Amino acid sequence: MKVLTVIGNRPQFVKAAAVSRLLRERHEEILVHTGQHYDDELSTIFVEELGIPRPEREFGIGGGSNTEQTSRMLAALVPVIEADRPDAVLVYGDTNSTLAGGLAAAQARIPVAHVEAGMRSFDRAMPEELNRVLTDHLSDLLLCPSPTAVENLRREAVAGRVELVGDVMVDIAQLIRPRALADDGPLRELGVEPGAYVLATAHRAGNVDDPDRLAALVALLTAVPGPVVLPVHPRTRARLEAAGLIAQLAAAGVRLCPPLGYVAFAALLSRARAVLTDSGGVQKEAYLAGIPCVTMRDTTEWVETVESGWNVLVDLDSAAALVALDRVMPAERPELYGDGRAGERVVAALGALAG
Ligand code: UDP
Repeated sequence: MKVLTVIGNRPQFVKAAAVSRLLRERHEEILVHTGQHYDDELSTIFVEELGIPRPEREFGIGGGSNTEQTSRMLAALVPVIEADRPDAVLVYGDTNSTLAGGLAAAQARIPVAHVEAGMRSFDRAMPEELNRVLTDHLSDLLLCPSPTAVENLRREAVAGRVELVGDVMVDIAQLIRPRALADDGPLRELGVEPGAYVLATAHRAGNVDDPDRLAALVALLTAVPGPVVLPVHPRTRARLEAAGLIAQLAAAGVRLCPPLGYVAFAALLSRARAVLTDSGGVQKEAYLAGIPCVTMRDTTEWVETVESGWNVLVDLDSAAALVALDRVMPAERPELYGDGRAGERVVAALGALAG
C-alpha cells in the first residue's frame, strides 16, 4: 500500500517519528513536509534526532494567516496527490497542514487517516480546534489517543471508522527517556539544578498575538520564584521583541534560550520542579514524566491530566499559577494515553484500511 503522509510542524515531527519507520517496514510512504515550521530549531534537528525519514517532498510554505497558509498548502498538495495516487493520506494532530492534507485527499476521494483524532478543547476561538473538528469529519479512519477522544467522536457521530490506538507521543517519550535521563548537559548550560527550576513554554496565538495577553504572560513568568527556563518559540520571540519585553524577562532572571531539540528538552522537563506551558504536547509529556504541570490556558484537550490532579488550568492568572505551582501532587499516575505501542496500531489500522 502507498501512504502519503503530510507533516509540517514540530509536534508532527515527533508524532511521525513514532509511525514512519514502522510504516516503511510494511508499506511505501511518501512524506510531505509543508514547511509550516521550516527553521532548523523547529524542523531539521527533529528529523535528525528522532530518525524521521527525509521528506520526499518539501513545500516551504510558512507564514501568512491561517486561512492563507491552509489555502496555499491545499493548492500545493492537489497536484502531488494527483501524481502519486496514494491509497491513503495520513495526517497528524490539529495544524493547518493537518486540515490541508485531509481536505485535499478527501476532495480527491483518497481515504484519510487522522492520528490524534477526537481531541477537543471545545474552544472554537482556537485555530487548532477548527482544524481538529473539520479533519475528523472528513476522515475515513480516526485513530484516537484516549477513550475521551473516542467518546467525543461518538457524540459527534463522525462518518469514519473510530479506533482507540493510544497516543503516538507516548511511544517517543518512552523511547527517548533513557537518553534524556543520561543527559544533564542542558541543565549545566543553563545553570540550573535538578528539581530547582520551572520549565516554561508558550507559543499559542491566544497568548502571544494579543499585546495585553502577552504582557500578562510576561507578568506571570516573572512572578514565579526561583529560576524559570524558557526555550523561546520563534513566534513568541517575534512578539516579545516587537513589544520590547525580552529585556523585562531577562532582568527578572528568566533564562531564555532558543527552542531545544527533543532530547535536550526532555532532559530539562524530566528534572524540572514543575512545567508551565500552553503547549498541548508538553502538558502530556509532563504527565508521562511525573512532573507537575500548570497550563496557561483556560481549556485543554488533554482533560485527563487535569482530572487526575497532575495539571491545573490557570489561564494567565499569576496568583493562581503560584498556588498551582506549590500544590501537593497526587500519589497515583495511571496510564492515560496508552502503552507506548500506538505506532504499531496505527500501521495495522492503515493496513486494514487498504483491505
Ligand atoms: N519541544 C521541543 N523543544 C522545545 C519545546 C518543545 O522539542 O524547546 C517539543 C516537546 O517535547 C513536544 C513538542 O515539542 O514534543 C510540542 O510542540 P509544541 O509545543 O510546539 O506544539 P503543541 O503540542 O502545543 O501543538
